[in-house]
Amino acid sequence: MKNKKSPYSLHLATKAIHGMDINPRTGSVSLPIHQTSTYRFTKTEEAIKFAEGDESVYAYSRYHNPTTDDVQQSLALLMDAEDAVLCASGMSAITTTILTLVKSGQEILSTPSLYGGTYRFFRDELPKLGITVRYFDPQDLPGLKKMINEQTALIFAETPTNPSLEIVNLKKLVSNVHNAEEKFSRNIFIMIDNTFATIINQQPFNFGADIVVESTSKYIGGHSDLIGGVVAARKVITNRIRQAAKSYGGSIDPFVSYLLHRSLKTFPLRVEKQNENALALAKYFETHPRVKRVLYPGLKSHPNHTAAKKQMRHYGGMVTIEIKGGAERATRVVDNLQIALNAMSLGGVETLVSIPVYSSHINMTDAELDLHGVTPGMIRISVGIEDINDLKEDFDRALRV
Ligand SMILES: *Cc1c(COP(=O)(O)O)cnc(C)c1O
Repeated sequence: MKNKKSPYSLHLATKAIHGMDINPRTGSVSLPIHQTSTYRFTKTEEAIKFAEGDESVYAYSRYHNPTTDDVQQSLALLMDAEDAVLCASGMSAITTTILTLVKSGQEILSTPSLYGGTYRFFRDELPKLGITVRYFDPQDLPGLKKMINEQTALIFAETPTNPSLEIVNLKKLVSNVHNAEEKFSRNIFIMIDNTFATIINQQPFNFGADIVVESTSKYIGGHSDLIGGVVAARKVITNRIRQAAKSYGGSIDPFVSYLLHRSLKTFPLRVEKQNENALALAKYFETHPRVKRVLYPGLKSHPNHTAAKKQMRHYGGMVTIEIKGGAERATRVVDNLQIALNAMSLGGVETLVSIPVYSSHINMTDAELDLHGVTPGMIRISVGIEDINDLKEDFDRALRV
């Protein structure tokens, strides 16, 4: 077609549905699943080409798969990135990226509030490899600048954080890191776990982040039926990650790639509804006598609302409330919900709740809970796309028991 518009110039909702120009050969409207582990070479010459590193030759699905390749392109387009790599899980995306970019003797500076899996990887696995992790105060970014030294290789941040939904000012984070870089005349990678906000609500690349990772098990997948992860960055970075990923082996299954592609089409629509429901529910909780505190970045009462407003298009689908009466009362509320389900994950079409002290933050000392901003009466809510009136009624009933 002549003068075809670049897909990059389209809006998010259109990109999500049409992606890149896939399947030019067959014209298939939906994405075919190449459920194969290996590919025949038509001639030995092809096998040799593959062995010599020719990326256009398919050989084995841990290295390459056409279904996965197409979904990676669609994700890169949606994330406004040069390239995206899909992995078998969010954790696989995080660990593969870090093990590719950080080496023994170097260190990572991170926000203290982290997804449990990431926290344990930092605490239990990286030290064995001689990689140190130190934690910075997300509300003191000049302090982060002071912590950077010769060994600092990567800055890792989650925003909003789990479960207190604290916001890290991305613009300030990047400028402080860049200032320090000048001093050491060296590149420090800035990696953002964007799982909670999603690329629909927050675009870390616009603020100068180098690497964006999202667990696709959450909002991108959106139906609580798959595990996957994506890392997006410039090609100079993803080429290295893609190469290492072949050895680390956390490649995504083609069927999961297909499910993700199907999910992508409704991704902006789902997140829009989740944003809307979450804001309505947060406002409702603010007026509820049994709720002590509501944490939602979209509320004026949120301590980081100003920073959230600057960097988020909308405020996401996660709401955390604190109930009067501690963990005992929180348990009673959760056990009396009839629509919202008590489950660990988040980002699906169904509303899920969890009590952090009994799930993500179980067995933590009081000091650790304090550091992560967690209290016993907290309930974390991943707001789904149900009718808002049914959700309000469900919480109202459970809160009154
Ligand atoms: C779930 C999650 C991960 C890990 O993703 P998996 O797909 O479960 O491996 C990482 N970061 C955040 C913020 C998450 O919520």
